[in-house]
Amino acid sequence: MIPYGRQDITQADIDAVVEVLQSDFLTQGPMVPLFEQRVAEHVGASHALAVNSATSALHIACLALGLGPGDRLWTTPVTFVASANCGLYCGAEVDFVDIDPRTYNLCPQALERKLEQAEREGTLPKVVVPVHLCGQPCDMQAIHALARRYSFKVIEDASHAIGGKYQGEFIGNGKYSDITVFSFHPVKIITTAEGGMALTNDAELANKMALLRSHGITRDPQQMTHEADGSWYYQQIDLGFNYRMTELQAALGVSQMERLDEYIARRHHLAARYNDLLAALPVTTPWQHPDSYSGLHLYVVRLQLEKTTQTHRQVFESLREQGIGVNLHYIPVHTQPYYTRMGFKSEDFPLSMDYYQEAISIPMFQTMSEDQQDKVVAALKKVLHA
Ligand SMILES: *Cc1c(COP(=O)(O)O)cnc(C)c1O
Repeated sequence: MIPYGRQDITQADIDAVVEVLQSDFLTQGPMVPLFEQRVAEHVGASHALAVNSATSALHIACLALGLGPGDRLWTTPVTFVASANCGLYCGAEVDFVDIDPRTYNLCPQALERKLEQAEREGTLPKVVVPVHLCGQPCDMQAIHALARRYSFKVIEDASHAIGGKYQGEFIGNGKYSDITVFSFHPVKIITTAEGGMALTNDAELANKMALLRSHGITRDPQQMTHEADGSWYYQQIDLGFNYRMTELQAALGVSQMERLDEYIARRHHLAARYNDLLAALPVTTPWQHPDSYSGLHLYVVRLQLEKTTQTHRQVFESLREQGIGVNLHYIPVHTQPYYTRMGFKSEDFPLSMDYYQEAISIPMFQTMSEDQQDKVVAALKKVLHA
């Protein structure tokens, strides 16, 4: 089976992890700060907090921004459930904004209409989470302008997007948001097995997230309520979690960062090749906004169902039978039973549902060969009789 995504682990990665295993620190040593520094410098952010997953990063990002009961978080339905669940963890209400039919990202015009209505009804969101689907950045300038006008905070869920650029600058530099989150799950662009990171240019937010990642405990005398009882002393000044990344993971991350640019270039090469090879097929290849240089975590095609006798499901299952590990990103979150129980209906976000009925993620990963890619294309041609 050719998977839709997979990690690339080199001997250098293995050596880096083994070295940590033989060192003094398996956790809370020098590698986590080094990894944070490498990512922050690469993308141009002032502060970076490595954690054990992007889900944890989203959670502490929401808490640091003060999200709580009585507040609202809005995101896109076409995302992994974690982009929405982070709001529920904080006791906030979650709602969605439909997608742009070209980029499949949260649509700024739909956001504006919903904000106008929410203002009239007194139900404005505190936090909006745009998701850079497949690695293509959202229209952050428009979202940022709305954030100013309606006073909400912005967390970029850039789980798909490390190494990508928006208007020529790296995603994660925080120019148009308060916090950006990356994921290092093995299917993502670089991996630490499990892992995530929250980046910000705001020292206060960084400090809050640093506390929340490790039990709300500080050893900094300046943050304590009174003078230390002795050199053993620490204080718990907030209610935090154990969301720490290990030294093994951080060492892997540092090693993987060395190849980030190479990975993105390879993904662009493969995407350009797919675009050519699929041009004559009844599928819509990923449209790219001119402001965007995607991280290309995923390559999603949309079937032009009016031009084929096959159903979406038949095409998907035929590809799997032919050894192509296709996937579907994503089942719109508002249709998940946990969310329909809150009252969401499929038809609430029609463009997300249209997308769901046509989308298929075909294999895209840095070590994919052109030969493997040709197999994917041949399998698609076969099932589409093209
Ligand atoms: C993978 C992913 C997450 C969660 O990442 P983890 O590191 O697995 O917690 C969140 N949002 C999006 C859009 C993702 O793709």
